[in-house]
Parts: sequence; C-alpha cells; structure tokens
Amino acid sequence: MLIVMQVGASAQEVDDVIKGIEEVGLNYHISRGEERVIIGAIGEGRVATQYLTMFLTLPGVDRVVPISRPYKLASREFSHQNSRFDVGGVEIGGEGVVIIAGPCSVESRTQTLEIAHAVKEAGAHLLRGGAYKPRTSPYAFQGLGESGLEILIEAREATGLPVVTEVISPEQVTLVSGYADILQVGARNMQNYPLLHAVGESHQSVLLKRGISATIEEMLMAAEYILSHGNSQVILCERGIRTYETATRNTTDINAVPVLKSLSHLPVFLDPSHSTGNWQYVPAIALAAVAAGADGLIVEVHNQPDRALSDGGQSLKPERFVEMVNQVKAIARAVGRDLAVPHSNRSVPQL
Ligand code: PEP
Ligand code: MN
Repeated sequence: MLIVMQVGASAQEVDDVIKGIEEVGLNYHISRGEERVIIGAIGEGRVATQYLTMFLTLPGVDRVVPISRPYKLASREFSHQNSRFDVGGVEIGGEGVVIIAGPCSVESRTQTLEIAHAVKEAGAHLLRGGAYKPRTSPYAFQGLGESGLEILIEAREATGLPVVTEVISPEQVTLVSGYADILQVGARNMQNYPLLHAVGESHQSVLLKRGISATIEEMLMAAEYILSHGNSQVILCERGIRTYETATRNTTDINAVPVLKSLSHLPVFLDPSHSTGNWQYVPAIALAAVAAGADGLIVEVHNQPDRALSDGGQSLKPERFVEMVNQVKAIARAVGRDLAVPHSNRSVPQL
C-alpha cells in the first residue's frame, strides 16, 4: 500500500508512519516529491486491510492507497507520473525519444571508434557495445572483457556519447559500473536474482531486457528486484520473445510497449535488432515501437556487418541507420514527441 502524506507533513509524522510500518513487519520505501512524501509499505502478497485504516488515522497522513499488483515499486499505482532520469546529459523517460546505437560487441578500437562517430553523427544519444557477451555457444566470441570497456571509454571521450554495456555476473557489477553509464542486464539474465540484487545496489542506471520466454509480469517482477534494492533508475526493454514463428529470430511483442506503459511508470525501450534478427526488418519495427509509445530504442549498427563477430545479420550499416533516425524523428513528431535533445546540445536562449 501507499501512504500519501499531507503537503507539509512534519519529519516526525513521517517517522511515526515508518515506525508503524516496521512494527507490523512490513518493509518501506520512501519517495520524497517536491510537494509531499509518499511511503510505500511493502510485504509479501496483499497487505491486510486493517492496516489501511490503521495508517489512515495517523497524524499527517492524507490517504492510503492499496496496490493490487504483485510488483509494487514498479507499478503505475506507485507513481502516476512517468519516471525520468538523466544519463550523461540525456533525459530518459521524458518527452524526447532516446536512441541507443552501436555494435553488438566491442571488437576492436578502430571498429568501435568508427561506429561511435557514425552513430553520433546520425543523431544517436548513447553508444552501445558489449564487452562481456553471453553467447549461446561456448565457442563463439565471448567479448574483449575489461579491454573492451576501456575502448568504450575512449569512444565516449571522443564522441561525448554515454555508454551502455552488459554485465553478466554479480561480481562484475562494481568493475563495469566504473566504466558504464547504463548497465545492461541481458535477456538470458533477466531472472538472475543475484545479478538483479547487485545492480539494484549499484548507483548506475539499468537497462533490463525482457527474458526470451518471460511474461510481462515476470519482467516487472525482475524490475521490482532492482527497485527494491534501492535503484530507481530502471529502463524496461522489450527485445522479442520466443514463439512458434521461425521467419524471424524472435517475435517482437509490440503489445508490450503500451501494456508496460500502462502497468508501470518506468521508461520503456524496444530493441528491434534482437526482436527481428534481420537488419531488413529493423527500421520498420523501430518505427512501430515509437508509434506504439516507446520512450527509446536500442539498435545494433556495424560498419562491416559481414565481418562482425556477433549479430552482423541484424546490424544496420551506418547509412541505413541515418535514414532510420530521420524516419524515427518523423514518427515521433507524428505522435506528439520528438527526438531527445541532450543537455549539452540544448540551444541557449538568445537575449
Ligand atoms: C545484446 O544486446 O547484444 C544482447 C545479447 O541482447 P539480448 O540479451 O536481448 O539477447
Ligand atoms: Mn547482439
């Protein structure tokens, strides 16, 4: 349940509510807005109705709202306002649509820098690139590890693009956080609870990909793990699910975009590269995602897709990516949005 404090409730009144929550054996989560404090009282399953009236009678409490969903902090009931946060000068979850682009894997310094400059030029807001790759085959390229992270940092310095990169084990979280602006939790790890716990305790934004066979509710429960460990900066990313269809690598669940937006206040992104597995379908699905209300996209781009060490077949060449960004801009405008404008690029009002 949510305990909404009155505007101007005193610190003592807030403390008394917290004490009450602890006395009945629940956990709490405080959200301090500009106007008022909202306290989430969280327990397993439904919180008993007698508590609702008990908290309502405490001084300083305005109202008590039950949360019916199994995920609490991730739910739209917890926050009617969309979550927004800043990553290296780019607002995530705001009006502007955000584009993350780059290679599937960091393969070399030259490859990464060349692609980073190309995607920056095309209008991407953040750079992606995996240094630790969770591959289906143990014989496939597993990523450059820490030297890959160093290349990403060099690309960030050269282009100013904040960096998104995957973390595949809890032990790596501290190391990868030292380099990345956003930690990616991949589809194969969506229910890796020690990893969710570790990224939840980090102070880094997290891009959480939907598991290959996960339901929307399971995805929101995975997000709840991260939120409940203290990290509120979570992006939900639809990346296609496994169905009986074999014409594409996965099936883009376009429904997930409006469904997640209605069930949760968290920003929703879509990955048209993994959801289709074929570069030819990527732009169409990117446009569909933005039309459906996605707050951003994560797209694979490669300068030499036929030589890529992973996911070349689903990577756009830079020229095609430029075209896609222009089309995405048009669709964003058609639905009353636009592409995000990084703070550093915002024009200074003329006096
Ligand atoms: C990736 O982004 O390169 C990746 C491995 O994605 P996913 O976890 O969605 O398969
Ligand atoms: Mn990939």
